[in-house]
Amino acid sequence: MNAYLSQVSAAKMWDHLNALTAVGSRDPRHPGHAKAVAYIKEQLGAIPGVKLESHRTSYQGIALENIFAIVDPRGFDAPKDGWILIAAHYDSISNRSPGWDPSRDAAPGADDNATGTAALLEYARILGAPDAMRLPTRIVLGFFDGEELFYKGSAAYVQSLPRPYPYRAAINIDMVGFNPIADRLDLLWHTGASAALRDRVVAVNQRYAIGVSPLNAQAAPDGSTIMDGTPFGLAGIPSVSLCQRYGENDAAFPGNSTFHTVNDTPDKLTNPRLWLKAAKLTLATALELAAAP
Ligand SMILES: [Zn+2]
Repeated sequence: MNAYLSQVSAAKMWDHLNALTAVGSRDPRHPGHAKAVAYIKEQLGAIPGVKLESHRTSYQGIALENIFAIVDPRGFDAPKDGWILIAAHYDSISNRSPGWDPSRDAAPGADDNATGTAALLEYARILGAPDAMRLPTRIVLGFFDGEELFYKGSAAYVQSLPRPYPYRAAINIDMVGFNPIADRLDLLWHTGASAALRDRVVAVNQRYAIGVSPLNAQAAPDGSTIMDGTPFGLAGIPSVSLCQRYGENDAAFPGNSTFHTVNDTPDKLTNPRLWLKAAKLTLATALELAAAP
């Protein structure tokens, strides 16, 4: 496991984050969105062990595109069950900036959520390498659109899935590079179906000495958390979301005050160490699950 975790490159994540923020905005109403889609597809398309798929939907006339990178060492015709999803939304928004025009103005979304998107691009590189571990399980990397429009991209995807669902776990990573005070993450577990997955994340953090501290578990029993883990949990698929802080500010752990503004720029990532730990914790959990179907 540690051989895998040590491959997660902070430098490569920074390169991806800089590219993703350089498009200006990844809001699906902005021309930068298509550039971000092109960047993600170009990166994934260059990896030999990855199969690329798109799932398109729309919300109030806004076209949304979820992008999937599928890794399945057994072949892409392998049984369609027991899959592990790692998710991050790549869209962005700046609706907390006064007078912001989604079709024209900036939404750099560096912390929210180029951090998670960059981590997924790293997972694709590591898992899709020719000498990667032969896992007995399909891992799907889901780059979701429309999360900032009340997780419409991931919700439409869950609706589109066959029943019974092919996934046995979903791990979502969203906003993980800011917290200047501590290497803290919130671990949202979406509905009671997710308690065992929550416990697994806590155990993995210990087992591989990843060092997220505190790892603050929070129950998300309903659909009120705006996170891409939510629609999976509501569907009964074990689902967690890792986030540097979810909900109201508190003095001990401030949230990133630039989130959903034009100022969520790369220089606001005050804790790149946390970002790397979050990326490793997510990957380690997925690999441990995948190794034991
Ligand atoms: Zn987000």
